[in-house]
Amino acid sequence: MEFWQSQCKRAKFYKSVKSSWKTELGKELPKLANMATSADQNEKEFLCCYKDCGVTGGRTLAAEDARVDVRAFESKSKQKVKVVDWQEGGAATFHRACWSELLKATKDSTSSISLSDVERSMILDAKKTAEYHDSKSSVLHEAKRIAYIIKNSRHCIVFTGAGISTAAGIGDFRGIDGKWTKRDKLKNYGSKGAGQAASQKPVEQLRPTYTHEALFKLMEMGVIKFVISQNTDGLHRLSGIPADQIAELHGNSFIEKCEECERRYERSFPCRKKSTAVPEKKCPRCRINHRTGRRCSQPGCQGFLMNTIINFGDYLEKDVIGGAQTQATMADCVLALGSTLMVSPANDLVLMGQQPIRLLICNRQTTPYDILCLLKGPDDQPVGSRVFGDCDILMKQVMSELLTPEELQSWEGGRKDRLVEYGLKRTTVR
Ligand SMILES: [Zn+2]
Ligand SMILES: [Zn+2]
Ligand SMILES: [Zn+2]
Repeated sequence: MEFWQSQCKRAKFYKSVKSSWKTELGKELPKLANMATSADQNEKEFLCCYKDCGVTGGRTLAAEDARVDVRAFESKSKQKVKVVDWQEGGAATFHRACWSELLKATKDSTSSISLSDVERSMILDAKKTAEYHDSKSSVLHEAKRIAYIIKNSRHCIVFTGAGISTAAGIGDFRGIDGKWTKRDKLKNYGSKGAGQAASQKPVEQLRPTYTHEALFKLMEMGVIKFVISQNTDGLHRLSGIPADQIAELHGNSFIEKCEECERRYERSFPCRKKSTAVPEKKCPRCRINHRTGRRCSQPGCQGFLMNTIINFGDYLEKDVIGGAQTQATMADCVLALGSTLMVSPANDLVLMGQQPIRLLICNRQTTPYDILCLLKGPDDQPVGSRVFGDCDILMKQVMSELLTPEELQSWEGGRKDRLVEYGLKRTTVR
């Protein structure tokens, strides 16, 4: 909570500095009209879970409609739940407008919606997991703007989080199925290994998503200059991003480094396997053993190798954060994909660049910086863009704006061959 408040203060400060700009601060964010879809959800229809849903056309939510997905603690006192048709496991989907009404009702005792205490607390609980999806037309509109902005930027950098790897099979942190959401539910606040999103698949079986591939393509085209990632899954490097054009803030599961000479080794297998041949060493900061069981092969070194994963309590690697800061300072445009931008130092990096920074954010959850995307520049247009939805859907549209139909077809058609290449670069655990 404190963190949120400090971020809001930061945003307010930022706004006051830019007081010459007009803002849309007064507008409520989830007003982004009609909405949503995800590649595999295109065909799906949902029922709005607000029983008195007043949206014209009834409770059926087309995949095109702006919607919100939430998950609440399951209530044991079902008889006190009357307003929302909660689904299995406390899940619910609403029209954006219906959700706004319900949220208002939690604060306003004069609201026409009368909530029991149980249901009010369920809604407030569910609010923390809300995942928003904009309407398809809104995503298309923003994709055009984003393509134009990044193409015309001088130094566009990309900031990525777990949300771009969910399509590859890696778990998310927040949101309806997020690891932290589940952790909070289980009331299990253990910190061990909490720094990584749980993978639903072994990490060596993960492959770059549409978004990973698009970012590499954009880098080849010179449209984006650098990637800063919170992910440890190694998928950006696997997609082809060169080591000197990425800062993996929280480490890379496939990279280990020498305790003595700091030489780095990039492997085709995940570097977390411990060997009994090597004495364990509890890290003084995260209390976890980083040693992988292998030794440095530099002549005369023989140092123990350690994984590069940053756990809670660990410091970020100096060179890595330094590189990220240098790039962030040069940036005039930041494309932030699949991150809630809540974990330090994301908050500093996205605002470090040339002003006015063009902040383009796409993910399903709100971030502390959403209002900054909507600040207006001298031309009375928003300087950035805020898209609620899946990164792959947005990036597909962005790529179709930046490539000719022939280029797009040839590039997308190349995925089959690329998957073979990725496979050659990955082996199972050694
Ligand atoms: Zn509704
Ligand atoms: Zn060494
Ligand atoms: Zn540690």
